[in-house]
Parts: sequence; structure tokens; C-alpha cells
Amino acid sequence: MEAGSKNEFAENQTGDGSMEEKHKGGCFCGAVELEVTGPPIVQAYCHCGDCRAWSGTPVTSATLWPADAVQVTKGEDHILSYSRTGETIRKSCKTCGGALVAAIPAAGLVDVFGGVLKGFHHEATAHVYYAQRVLDIRDGLPKFRDMPAEGGGSGEFVEE
Ligand SMILES: [Zn+2]
Ligand SMILES: [Zn+2]
Repeated sequence: MEAGSKNEFAENQTGDGSMEEKHKGGCFCGAVELEVTGPPIVQAYCHCGDCRAWSGTPVTSATLWPADAVQVTKGEDHILSYSRTGETIRKSCKTCGGALVAAIPAAGLVDVFGGVLKGFHHEATAHVYYAQRVLDIRDGLPKFRDMPAEGGGSGEFVEE
């Protein structure tokens, strides 16, 4: 119910000076474009081996949004979906290979990679899966061994 009313609000507000924050983004070649509405639920740096292998970078910046806040506005048919675990569906552009999002359907969340949204200022509050890291970061933020307890993890911290 809440999801429905949220979409309705977004449609009603499109293009007329919406009160709700919107960010646009897309892939490297521009074939796929997407838009997110409202603020992310949480922002973090992810050190997990899966993100690393998929993205080719030691650390990824994750922004988690409710699934219904993320809309593909162009090039849906250019999206390649891959799931190794069955829990996370990683999506990229078929044409340029650019990483886009990782959907987590069971949690009703979509992780939009931090660099996908144009002009979005990334403000992470924690590091997750820090025990799997290949790069040390000393920024004073909390370092979760895996995930916070409310995200289904141990909630344990690792020293910097
Ligand atoms: Zn592309
Ligand atoms: Zn990860």
C-alpha cells in the first residue's frame, strides 16, 4: 500500500518542481538510464569478495534504496542480470559492461552503486564485510566484520 502511494506521488510530481529528492544516473555508454526518488536507506562501503570480483575494485560504495524508489527510465532491454547466489541479482549494461545495481529482492532493496548516480554526494556511515578486505581504510567509521545485526549479520566490529 505504501509502495503504491509512493509511486503515485512520484508520478504526480514529475517535472513540476518535486519536493521529493530525485537523482538520475546510468551506465557508462548511456544506453541505460535510471532515476531514484527520495533518500537512500543506508550508505556504506562494501569490502565483500562478491562485489570485488564483480566490479573489479577492492571496495564498492553501496547506497541501498527501497526497490520501488529505483526506476529504469531508459534501456531496460540493455540490462544484463546475473545472480551467483540467487539472493543478489547484479545488473550491468549489455553494451558497455558498466555496473548499475544489485537487487536484493528478499529484502525489497536495490543497491545502486555509488558512482552510478550523477552528482550524488556519497556519505557512507560504515564499512561492511571488512573482514574480507584487501584494502585497509583508516577513516574512523565503524567496520562491521560482516553486516549489522538488523541487516542479517553478526553485528560484530573489526578494529581498523
Ligand atoms: Zn552502457
Ligand atoms: Zn559487497
